[in-house]
Amino acid sequence: MKRIAVLTSGGDAPGMNAAIRAIVLAGHYFGLEVIGYRHGFNGLLEQEYQILQTSDVNNIIQRGGTILKSARCKPFKTDQGGQQAAANLQALEIDALIIIGGDGSFRGAVHLSRFWSGAILGLPGTIDNDINGTDATIGYYTAIDTALESIDKVRDTADAFERIFLIEVMGRHAGFIGLSAAVCSGAEQVLLPELCTEQLPELTELVAHIQTAQQIRGKCSYIMVVSENTWPGGSAVLAQQLAEKTGIDCRPVILGHVQRGGSPVSLDRILASKLGAYAVEAAIGGKTGIMIGEQNQQVVEVPFPQTWDKAKSLDPYLLHIQTEMFDLVKNNH
Ligand code: ADP
Repeated sequence: MKRIAVLTSGGDAPGMNAAIRAIVLAGHYFGLEVIGYRHGFNGLLEQEYQILQTSDVNNIIQRGGTILKSARCKPFKTDQGGQQAAANLQALEIDALIIIGGDGSFRGAVHLSRFWSGAILGLPGTIDNDINGTDATIGYYTAIDTALESIDKVRDTADAFERIFLIEVMGRHAGFIGLSAAVCSGAEQVLLPELCTEQLPELTELVAHIQTAQQIRGKCSYIMVVSENTWPGGSAVLAQQLAEKTGIDCRPVILGHVQRGGSPVSLDRILASKLGAYAVEAAIGGKTGIMIGEQNQQVVEVPFPQTWDKAKSLDPYLLHIQTEMFDLVKNNH
């Protein structure tokens, strides 16, 4: 093996740079040339790349975003796109490609393997943590902290004004950020996609929860963490509905893309460093068709289809304490 390539694809996440750095440092350690494709799969189609020297990854471990840029790429999904990408990889005599991205990017990896015989490995890079086979994805821990920092600030003003705030967090169709942010911020209520798949909670139920909380504890602040894609129309619509029913001021705060940015926290840097280095070793060892993940602090190799074949479950105990044990209204304390 002489030459490996790396790209970042789909939604960007803090820690992607740390993963690129690890791949470049590990690659050079083993005497490989490392190429970085730019703009996700678009770079593969356009042959837009740069040779990555170790000096190119100086001082990037602490930076959010990705130095290789990320993007989505529709033309890549076609057979023609796959063939073009394969031809370009062959032209550069690439032996292995490491894709840092989410499950869409891993589907792209499997698509590419129909046309190209080089090794293809993946690293889980998404704030949503919605990838099976790894306890956490690169970017998830930072996104929780970013959401938390905002929620803590909202709590201060909510307390001062004795107001109700609905905080909408990201997560695509998964409640990992929502549940973690709710637990960490001591939120009174949490709405997660996983809890609403069969049936949405009744508006009257939500109103009763707020009113009972205020009866029990006197007029006070009330924070409801709402994962995106949970309530029809989003948290702004829910806030309006609640305000109409309760006559109380309910303010929505949509955190949005701030959750995708920022300097990665230590846990994301460690995860990215570990998985990035391991991916290079796995490629050298002849592995292909796998995501490199981590379970119970052990690096694991997960065949791509297993990363998306079923929805990843939330931690049931964390869910239990947030929605049952710590719910003062349900427990009438
Ligand atoms: P993420 O990797 O964050 O889940 P996307 O779902 O947007 O992000 O996927 C990123 C890119 O992966 C897409 O723009 C496309 O190029 C490629 N991709 C996604 N799904 C497929 C698929 N089924 N077949 C081939 N390529 C795909």
